[in-house]
This record gives sequence, structure tokens and C-alpha cells, in this order.
Amino acid sequence: MVIVPRAKHSISRDDISSNALKVLYRLHRAGFSAYLVGGCIRDILLEHHPKDFDIATNASPEQIKDLFSNCRLIGRRFRLAHVHFGRDIIEVATFRSYHAASSVQNVHGMILQDNVYGTIEEDVLRRDFTVNALYYNIADFSVVDFVSGMQDLQNKELKLIGDPQVRYREDPVRMLRAIRFAAKLGFTIAPQSSKPIHTLGKLLANIPAARLFEEYSKLFLTGHALNTYKMLCEYGLFKQLFPSTDKFLSKSSLLIENALRNTDERVSAGKSVAPSFLLAVFSWHPLLEQVLSLEFNDAMDRVLSEQQRILAVPRRFLGMVRDVWELQYRLERRRSARHVEILYALSKFRAAYDFLLLRAESGEEQAVAAAKWWKTYVEADDVTKIKLAASIKPSKGKRKKSIST
Ligand code: ATP
Ligand code: MG
Repeated sequence: MVIVPRAKHSISRDDISSNALKVLYRLHRAGFSAYLVGGCIRDILLEHHPKDFDIATNASPEQIKDLFSNCRLIGRRFRLAHVHFGRDIIEVATFRSYHAASSVQNVHGMILQDNVYGTIEEDVLRRDFTVNALYYNIADFSVVDFVSGMQDLQNKELKLIGDPQVRYREDPVRMLRAIRFAAKLGFTIAPQSSKPIHTLGKLLANIPAARLFEEYSKLFLTGHALNTYKMLCEYGLFKQLFPSTDKFLSKSSLLIENALRNTDERVSAGKSVAPSFLLAVFSWHPLLEQVLSLEFNDAMDRVLSEQQRILAVPRRFLGMVRDVWELQYRLERRRSARHVEILYALSKFRAAYDFLLLRAESGEEQAVAAAKWWKTYVEADDVTKIKLAASIKPSKGKRKKSIST
């Protein structure tokens, strides 16, 4: 174990949220040990802004609750304390031990239950990567490093703590986390930790679909989606998350890459990003395939329900995916002036229009003319819009068969 004193590291209390400091100090004053740990320490040392501040302590959840009136105990897999400050939540976890013997595992070696409290020395061993296992001690402002995390941080290397095979089997999501951190931080995955991913990727099939959705959001909506996607493909993990998409990658990789690039640009510009838009992108080519043999609605049902079994998207986002897809056909068709005005006024117009532009930019012939027409319309002033809409000749006779009917 190495203790890096305050004078020898760059973490200042100015980098730490005042709410996290309040919690740390109160635990400390009550006689408990209290540390910041995980991504916040890693990120501060790398001069990034931490997303959240996690605290580890030897106080039990009940003792934490007694100290804070604004505290709620939560936890499905683990019992954790959430200390609430308005919308800001500081997560406080009691040190847990890491013993294969004390955990419940399934046949693949996956840990199902693991809730035995322990010491800091034990807590460190249950963490995933060495750079995620640095502890900042509020008692003397030092950083406690049990696993050479400081060295690996300097070398920009992700190393699993312990035997990588065992650690990936215990929790296959760690493979996704390896790729997420590598893409986000520009780190390499150490050879010992990267090799097993190629063979163990299929264990992701055992992860509950709701948890995979949470990981999906972190992988694709936090500003490093394009890099993440490329690495997921390289390690054979993309096909575990999106098997139907993977079958059409030769056709859809341009659409996917353009969409991910846009998403990253939106995140870095501080704009909102919805999980539904990318899902519409990922499943677009599988949908076009199904449309060849099924009614449009049935094709959407089929594609979405297959994908839901692996990665469960909350219902509220699914409606948006369907809307974006359905509107493609209507945007292509532009039946009449009135129709154009109705479409333009829809709350879903913008997402559907963005999707149409992406399809056109990604070489989908079918979308090119419509994308060009709508771009002119969207960018025109109100008077020109009326003229453009009026110039549409209402189509007579039967609906033209389109790929998106
Ligand atoms: P970020 O919050 O930036 O995504 P993080 O490293 O803080 O990254 P969290 O999911 O917030 O990630 O987890 C906090 C810490 O908990 C991690 O740094 C790691 O020490 C530990 N941890 C989280 N998930 C796992 C896991 N699946 N296996 C082992 N340890 C984990
Ligand atoms: Mg975190």
C-alpha cells in the first residue's frame, strides 16, 4: 500500500463538490473513516470534471442514516445510502468485503449477491480497475493506493484488479466498462485485461436487459460514442448488444458512424441527447429488412421486441423510435401543402428530419430527394415556406410503394 500525502498529489478540496465535503466531514467528525473513491478521484487526477462523487466509509448503512436526516437507504444488489441535497445526491457505500466464498454465484461464475461488509483493504479488491480504486482520505487529504492505481493512471492503462478472467466472469458488464473508460479517457486496456474480452463477450447474454440499457446510455450518450462503438466492434461486443444491427453493418455502418459523431457533437455543445434517436438508427436496417415481408407496424414490433429482449429500453422511449421511423415515409411522400404544414408542426418533426438528413448523407438513395426538399423548406422564411408547400402537386391515385411503406 502506498499513501500519497497531500503535497504529492493534485487533488484540492476546490475540486470536490461542497455537498460531498459536507458528508465526508460529518462522517469523519462522528469518528468514522471516510474516503472519496472511484471515478471522481480518477477524473480529478486527470483534470476532468467528475460526474459524481462517491464516498466509502466504515459506517454501516444504518449508522449513515442516523447521521443524516436527508438520507435514504436504497439498493437492489447492494445496500447504499443516498444523501440528498436538493437534486444532488451523494452516494455513500459501506466498505464491502470481496470473498468468493461469501458471495452467491451462478454457473458462469457471475456474482449474484455480495453484501458482506468489510475493511478498506477488502473494499479495494472488489473494485474493477486499479485507476478506479484510489481513495482520498478526508482525515489527512492523502490518497491511499493499494493497487498501483497512480502508476497505471500515469501510464494511461486500464488494469483489472485480480485475475481478469475471474473478474469478467463475476460481472461481465466490466467488459463494457473497460471499453467505456478506454474510449472516454483515451487509455489502453492492458493486454491481460483485454485478451479475455474476445472470448468472454458472450457472457453479456446473462446480464438483465434493464442493466444493459443503463450501460448503453453511458456508452453512447456521454460524449464518446463513436470511439466506444469502434472499440465495441473491435472487441466483438457490439454484436452482443445489437445482434440484428450487426448483421447489416456493411450497409449501415456509415449511418451509425455519422449518427454517433453527431451525438458526440451535441453532447460537447451541451445539447440534449435522447436514447431513442440512436436506437432508431441502430435498428433502421433490420427494420428495412423486415419491411420486405411484413406490414410496417408488424415489422416495427418485431424489430423492437427482438432488441428489447437483450437491452430493455424503457417504454417511454419506444414511442419516439416508432415515430421517427413512421415519419420517414411521410416526409418522403409530402402529399400536399396541408400535409407538409401538419408534419412541420409536429413535435417529433425535428428528430424525424434529422434522421432523414442522416439517411441521405449516409448514401441512402431513397432519402436524398426528400432530404434536399425539406432542408430548403426548413431553412426558408415563412413566405417562401408557403410558396414551397403550395408548389406540391397532390398525388393522385394509389399510394406509391416505397421501401418504407
Ligand atoms: P463514471 O461515474 O465516470 O462513469 P465511475 O468509475 O465512477 O465512472 P461508477 O459506476 O460511478 O463508475 O462506479 C463507482 C466505482 O464503483 C467505480 O470507480 C469502481 O471502483 C466501482 N464499481 C462500479 N461498478 C463496478 C463493477 N461492475 N465491478 C467492480 N467495481 C465497480
Ligand atoms: Mg461515478
